Formats: sequence, structure tokens, C-alpha cells
Amino acid sequence: MAKRVVNFNPGPAALPLEVLKIVQEELLDYQGSGMSILESSHRAKEFEAVNDQAMALVHEILGLGADYQVLFMGGGASTQFALAPMNFIPAGGTAAYVDTGEFAFKAMKEAQIVAKAHIAFSSKAEKYARVPKMSEIKYPEDVAYLHICSNNTIEGTQFHEFPETGKIPLVADMSSDIASRQLNFNKFAMIYAGAQKNLGPAGVTLVVIRNDFLAKAKTGLPSMFTYKTYVDNKSLYNTPPVFAVYIMKLVLEWIKKQGGLAAVEKVNVAKKDLLYGAIDAAPDYYKGTVEKASRSWSNVTMRLPTEALEDKFIADAKKEGLIGMKGHRSVGGIRFSIYNAVSLDDIKKTVDFMERFHKAN
Ligand code: PMP
Repeated sequence: MAKRVVNFNPGPAALPLEVLKIVQEELLDYQGSGMSILESSHRAKEFEAVNDQAMALVHEILGLGADYQVLFMGGGASTQFALAPMNFIPAGGTAAYVDTGEFAFKAMKEAQIVAKAHIAFSSKAEKYARVPKMSEIKYPEDVAYLHICSNNTIEGTQFHEFPETGKIPLVADMSSDIASRQLNFNKFAMIYAGAQKNLGPAGVTLVVIRNDFLAKAKTGLPSMFTYKTYVDNKSLYNTPPVFAVYIMKLVLEWIKKQGGLAAVEKVNVAKKDLLYGAIDAAPDYYKGTVEKASRSWSNVTMRLPTEALEDKFIADAKKEGLIGMKGHRSVGGIRFSIYNAVSLDDIKKTVDFMERFHKAN
């Protein structure tokens, strides 16, 4: 049995061992086809079944109504930063953006390349240490949509309530918290998420769009930039990232087997409570970097008294098989990315390490 680390990588990130074992088992001969799914045609019945099942599982696990389309796309969430405004901001129009972190800001920047973007709120001046209160989000009445980033991966903040936008479509980048907690996903006109944190490997991006929003999409864009192309072809217009979709299907089955998002959320709440508990138990040593009310359940960020201690923390942890917690290069510090495949046991080990490290240093 391979020695597995406790993996806090921010994405690509830990995958469930159970899923990796299935992949290993099925790799050389996928369900009696005599080849791996990697070598199968994307038009073959084997892959079409994988694709259909993955789409149905997204519907089921997120609890989406029948009026939602599930799309699997390439190009990462960063491509969605451009495609959303290209498809949904009409000529001369504006979309509103909530600026709560580096990725939220990038999304807005991309919108400004193709159209106009209104800043509905920004916590940039506060070093992105919080998400807004809902009353702080302000935008003109006629915007094409309001865009938020539900979880700010780098900064470690997360929305725990969502704006009531009435007739204005709500669009969310959920790259780092999709399928990690129970939400009313039907509130959103569009959701997108790179798979490489909670859903699978890098290479596929999940996009969910409600039909009434899709109907407003512009025409005249190149086919691969047009959401409708993916909808009309079940995301098989061109060659999809077959292996990534296949692993995503297995991860979705793994989520379902546990009891869906209710069960997943329960574990994730226990994980974040334990980890933030350890930080708050030593407030002069481990310092959370964001406002408590905005704390992320997916990316837990903290600082130690000095950078030298942070380096030692990372080095000592690595000796115990805890890896991937160096904060993003733009902010430094420590970041534990505790996505679905990181277990409660992993967090127990980590908290134990934190207590010992504090005593010894
Ligand atoms: N949005 C968020 C919230 C992210 O965390 C990331 C990646 N870490 C991105 C967008 C960019 O995703 P990708 O690398 O798939 O383009």
C-alpha cells in the first residue's frame, strides 16, 4: 500500500482514495472494453454513459430543478471569467461584480475587456479580509447579472448568505466550495467551478445554467465560446476532457454514497470547527487572517508570529506527512485547503501537530 500524505494542496487537490483505487482497477480494461477509458472514443457508448451519468449526478447532488443545464467545459474557471460576460452582457450593457479576492477581481477584469463591469462591493482596501454584508452590495437596476465568488480560495473567506437579487440573475464562481455544503443552488442563474478542488482532477470545468438565463445569451460568438453549443451537444461538440469527466463521475458517486451534501457538510463543519478551534485556542501564536464571520470552510488561513516560524511549521509538518499548506504566493502565511477528500482524521492529526509545534517553538 502506497504511503499517502495528508494533502492540503489548494488545487489540484486531494482525491478520495476510494476513487483513485477504482481508477487504478479500471485503468487497463474499462468494464470489459479491452481498453482504458482514456483510449475510448468520446462517441463510444462507454464514454457517453459516463458523461450522462456525471450530468445526472450533478443535477441530483446539487438538487437542481429540471430547468437547469449541466455543462462540462475546458479552459478552467479562468475561461469562464471571459465567457460569462461575452455571452451575457448585451452590447452597451454592464454586469455587477463583487470584489472579494484575487479571483473575483480577475473575473471582473475579464468582464471589463469585453464589456462594462460595475463594482458592487470591494474589500480590496481591507486586504480582502471579509465578504460583504448583503446590504453593502449595490448595483444599478439594469445590470445583466451580479457576479460573486462564493469562496475566496487565496484569502480564506466565504459567503455564508447570498444576496437576494430579484430579477437580476445571480452568477457565482464556486470553484473552491462547490458540493461542499448544502445550498439552494436554484438561487443561481449560473454557477461555474473548476473541478480540481472538490469534484475531480484539473481539466474539466462544471458549468450550470438556468434555461431562462441561457435564453438571454448573445448570438454570433464562435461556437466554442457559446454556452448553447455545449447544451445542444451534451458537452460533446468537440473532444471533451474524457478522463477528467470520468473521474468527476466517480467523485460524484463517492459523494452520493456518503449521503450527499447533507453528509458531506456535516463532516466539513466538524473539520473546520476543529481547525479554527485550534487556531483560536492559541490566539497569540496562530492568528486567523480574516474576519470570523467570513471564515471559509474550505480554505483555512493563518499566520504565525514570524515568517521563519511559518517556514519551520511547513517543514516540520512535512516530516509528519502533512503537505501543501504554504499560503498563496501573493499573501504568504499558512493555508489549509480542506476540501471534501481531506478527512476529519486528517484534521485531527493536524491539530495534534499544531499543539505540539506551539509547545516546542
Ligand atoms: N476561481 C477560484 C475561486 C479559484 O480558486 C481558481 C483557481 N484556484 C480559479 C477561479 C481559477 O481556476 P482555473 O485555474 O481552473 O482557471
